[in-house]
Amino acid sequence: MPDRSDSIEVSSDHDPIFDVLVVGAGVVGTAVARLLSRHQLNIAFLDASPDIGAGTSKANTAILHTGFDATPGSIESRLVRRGYELLIAYAPTVGIAIERTGAVLVAWDDEQAASLPSLHEKAGANGYTHSLLIDAAAVREMEPHLGPGVVGGMVVPDEFIIDPWSTPLAFAREAIANGATWLPNRHVTKLERQTDITVVTTARGEMLRARYVVNAAGLHSDDLHALIGLAGFTERPRRGELIVFDKLARALLTRTVLPVPTTHTKGVLVAPTVFGNIMLGPTADDIDDKEATGSTRAGLDGLLEKGRRILPGLADEDVTAVYAGLRAATEHADYQVSHDAALGYVCLGGIRSTGLTASMALAEEALTLLRVCGLAVVAKPIDGIQSIRVTNLGEAFERPYQVGGNGPIVCHCEHVTRDEILDACIIEPRATTIDSIRRRTRAVAGRCQGFYCNAEVCALAAQASGRSMSDWLGTT
Ligand SMILES: Cc1cc2nc3c(=O)[nH]c(=O)nc-3n(C[C@H](O)[C@H](O)[C@H](O)COP(=O)(O)OP(=O)(O)OC[C@H]3O[C@@H](n4cnc5c(N)ncnc54)[C@H](O)[C@@H]3O)c2cc1C
Repeated sequence: MPDRSDSIEVSSDHDPIFDVLVVGAGVVGTAVARLLSRHQLNIAFLDASPDIGAGTSKANTAILHTGFDATPGSIESRLVRRGYELLIAYAPTVGIAIERTGAVLVAWDDEQAASLPSLHEKAGANGYTHSLLIDAAAVREMEPHLGPGVVGGMVVPDEFIIDPWSTPLAFAREAIANGATWLPNRHVTKLERQTDITVVTTARGEMLRARYVVNAAGLHSDDLHALIGLAGFTERPRRGELIVFDKLARALLTRTVLPVPTTHTKGVLVAPTVFGNIMLGPTADDIDDKEATGSTRAGLDGLLEKGRRILPGLADEDVTAVYAGLRAATEHADYQVSHDAALGYVCLGGIRSTGLTASMALAEEALTLLRVCGLAVVAKPIDGIQSIRVTNLGEAFERPYQVGGNGPIVCHCEHVTRDEILDACIIEPRATTIDSIRRRTRAVAGRCQGFYCNAEVCALAAQASGRSMSDWLGTT
């Protein structure tokens, strides 16, 4: 079937006026769309990309933070704490893999060790009371493969790892199942308030109309803010590069190993992933280019050097993939959450390093602010809300190839079956690129990076979508 969503034009006076239009379909925008769809509202969410979750949300370290190291009293501290609780409760109900691995924060010199008690106090000030200071021997007992030089540590037993790809997918799927309109390939170029309607112009020339607009445009939330005539913050990307090690490395670690954070960054960590790998990163480089998501030689070399010190065994392990994500850092230390009732506008900007964790709380915040702006909100009856499930991608839970009845395995590195690939191209929001199939199924994400299965994945995608195989082969 052709990609019908690409050909929808919504630009005449007869077209619907959405109650709310969410700009940006990362983990934050999709969380907002999901929550709004549980109310009696006509809503839409759009993105410049062909898929949901294709911006910063696809390239993070996938930790569900307790918020122990946030700045007490900040918006971020409040929303991370709330978002953490919401996502832990939500994830199992829809099939998003999460694991409570816990974390140990490791001090590698006396100066870092001296800052541990204040971090412990900070955790308490953030409402997190389970952290525990431990000595070097206890750290080593917990993680025997750590390199020499550990001086002390702090355990944070409640940090989780989560599947970062299925989280926005579940939000989007649920929003669509409950009536939200999904508009991919819509790059917003103009916002114009006309009395009580905002006209949202996209690069393809269409004009969408909405009573309220939510800015969830991630790195470009400052640009959207400027389009509606507001100022106050500038997004400056902070690039984080990461290395994913082969599954054979997984035995080197049981929990996330965190460094002592600085005001600039949470620092380079080593963490297990729900997919069964180990990841090392991220770096933290302030850059000017909002599109510069490539990895760099210097970044990777620096990471490998740090990795050898933290977990020397990593040096012998194969690298499966490298990637980089851009944190939406601003000149301010906190999230840039605001509203303007006259403009019918809510801004969720500056969501730097914790947006995956805080996403569901940011959605609650957006709803509250929309109400403040004047949106009348009536919840749908609970039996009128459609529930959804995403395919489990986590190693700790049963996967379709283990259940059986899903056709042959197509991607042997990641054990992805035929039906998972077909479903990815059929169930809304449909995958329209190989990268979107990767994030829905794990196909081509393994050791061979698609060397063996890419052609077959494309053939199945062509079969499910009605697009040509060469069309799929040209997507990334
Ligand atoms: C290296 C790294 C590690 C991280 N680790 C963690 C972690 O462990 N835990 C955690 O909780 N958080 C983590 N984060 C943070 C988290 O990934 C982000 O806060 C979160 O993904 C932000 O989501 P978002 O929806 O705001 O932005 P995005 O995912 O970037 O989505 C914004 C969307 O808006 C769209 N858009 C922009 N402009 C326009 C426009 N004009 N028109 C239409 N669409 C537009 C973009 O295409 C994009 O899809 C990390 C981030 C990085 C970079």
